[in-house]
Amino acid sequence: MEYFDFYLMHAQDAGSFAKYKRCRAYETAFKLKEEGRVRHVGLSFHDKASVLEQILTEYPQIEIVQIQFNYVDYENPSVESRKCYEICEKFGKPVIVMEPVKGGSLVNLPEKAQKIIDDLQKDKEVKMSNASYAIRFAASFPGMCMVLSGMSDLAQMKDNLSFMQDFKPLDAEEIKALTEVRNVFYSLGMIPCTSCHYCVLDNKCPRNISIPEMISCFNRKAVFNSWNENQYYWSVLTKEGGKASECIKCGKCEKICPQHLPIRNILQDIAKEFEHS
Ligand code: SF4
Ligand code: SF4
Repeated sequence: MEYFDFYLMHAQDAGSFAKYKRCRAYETAFKLKEEGRVRHVGLSFHDKASVLEQILTEYPQIEIVQIQFNYVDYENPSVESRKCYEICEKFGKPVIVMEPVKGGSLVNLPEKAQKIIDDLQKDKEVKMSNASYAIRFAASFPGMCMVLSGMSDLAQMKDNLSFMQDFKPLDAEEIKALTEVRNVFYSLGMIPCTSCHYCVLDNKCPRNISIPEMISCFNRKAVFNSWNENQYYWSVLTKEGGKASECIKCGKCEKICPQHLPIRNILQDIAKEFEHS
């Protein structure tokens, strides 16, 4: 490649920002821009809004910011989607949205939440997908320059194109419905893991515990309360990998989790749910 259009400082949080500063990564990126090898320098971000404010204050040359933004995490105190977005607005930085569908969690909704979406469009001839509401939520805010939607097949791509080509922001009734869906998620106490797999890929767990799959299994049990999940836990998740109770609490996974989840405590709850019930 002769040049990159966008060059992002990856997964910035308080810890990685300190490290990037120590090795002068930002200065290196700005130099690449001066040399014409990078058109725009930005960052992707996973921490509290105050940390983002600090980075943009120290490096006003940053041109674009990628944040996690979806209707469930909008007021989530560990993600601070809204507050991070407001910081970008304050500093005049265009925003790239990641996780608009929350790693796919906003596609297959819990029954109570699905009813809210079904009621919303009961009189409509053309029914919109659950993903469409999630993506339109993110794209409805001023300053959003791109919404990254993971697409696994042609049908999903066609669906995305169908509502993004002639884009209409959400109306008041739709926003109200999504706020109700958000409340359903909170009431179920689901763990906000996005299945990014950072905890098991880059920093492999010494006990080979399938952390994201276990959390997802635990969430499904909370929503559907089905015995299938117990069977899945024993016959698939722990067949070759470690059990939740085998966690040695080294904390490697928590250091890398962009959602700052208390994984060690979560695994204790998972062990209680599946191994002692
Ligand atoms: S704290 Fe537990 S789950 Fe996390 S990496 Fe260490 S052993 Fe694995
Ligand atoms: S626990 Fe954290 S790092 Fe692991 S998959 Fe979930 S969100 Fe990603």
